[in-house]
Amino acid sequence: MPPNQQITELTLPLFDDFHLHLRAGNALKRTVSDASFWARRAIVMPNLQPPVDNFDLADNYRADIIKNIPAGRNFEALMTLYLSENIKTDTVKQAKERGIFAIKWYPKGATTNSEQGISSVQACYPIFAEMEKRGVPLLIHGEVTDTDIDIFEREAVFIDRVLIPLRRDFPALQITLEHITTARAVEYLLSIPEAEKTAATITPQHLLFNRNQLLVGGIKPHFYCLPILKCETDRKALLQAATSGNPRFFLGTDSAPHAQHKKENSCGCAGCYSAWNAPALYAQAFEEAGALDKLENFACKFGADFYDIATENYERVLKISREENTIPANLDYAEDKLIPLFAENKLNWQIKKN
Ligand SMILES: [Zn+2]
Repeated sequence: MPPNQQITELTLPLFDDFHLHLRAGNALKRTVSDASFWARRAIVMPNLQPPVDNFDLADNYRADIIKNIPAGRNFEALMTLYLSENIKTDTVKQAKERGIFAIKWYPKGATTNSEQGISSVQACYPIFAEMEKRGVPLLIHGEVTDTDIDIFEREAVFIDRVLIPLRRDFPALQITLEHITTARAVEYLLSIPEAEKTAATITPQHLLFNRNQLLVGGIKPHFYCLPILKCETDRKALLQAATSGNPRFFLGTDSAPHAQHKKENSCGCAGCYSAWNAPALYAQAFEEAGALDKLENFACKFGADFYDIATENYERVLKISREENTIPANLDYAEDKLIPLFAENKLNWQIKKN
């Protein structure tokens, strides 16, 4: 592999996005089209209103997603159930045969549409035990939501108070700590014995930006997401982890659209929309680390290996070209507008859009 500066084009398999919000209804036209351009599979988050917490809702949601896949593309939606009080051990028993890939746990109130989340970890223990037995992965939004915990500390406190005991009590449960944002999370992931199936997804925004991007020179709502952007030390630790070649860390964009008026608001929603051009954003980050050669495994292999799903038979490849380009100011989003992550700023990389 030549030095990064000499690489003018990356030709990679289509990516897997192991953490994606597609929303519902007429939002799907935009979100499914954008993601399926560069992703062949995605784990689809269940935090709709109402939450996807039974098989019928998951089946209907999958059917709606499939209807919105543009002609000629293969895109597989890996469906999740939302861990609410409607999830019983019986649900877990049937999950695999009903086409459910994983169960997502949002601590109550952690992010968009998480009001039905469960606040007591102990109440979930019978469910976790069944998931461990059946090999159903647990995807975690790893933040405590106690009002006395500082928003910048919520992930680190979650790891110490919740995740470490959970890992100890269910040593065979497959756990993904979603969208990690801190050096503490990286340190934790690196400390776990290899036999314990624990991994983490990392978003493009947490690799590229720190909280100054959100807060300095005026508040910039389109950089507001949860977990919130952290400091530069944290960003550097994440970039190091993502580009280290350690298979515990892999791609999950957490792309999460909100209409412009819901972000530019006195109580703006959390979420960054990166599905428009996520591979170019990741290429920008990996280039900064001098590690473009590490992008393929991070985006196309490590996650698939972790979840034990095939990585063969790619029908399309993705070309990411070194080509300075400006991210559009906005995108159509049903009857609204949507501001993509890093809108109106320049990137060194571009994916070819059709
Ligand atoms: Zn998310």
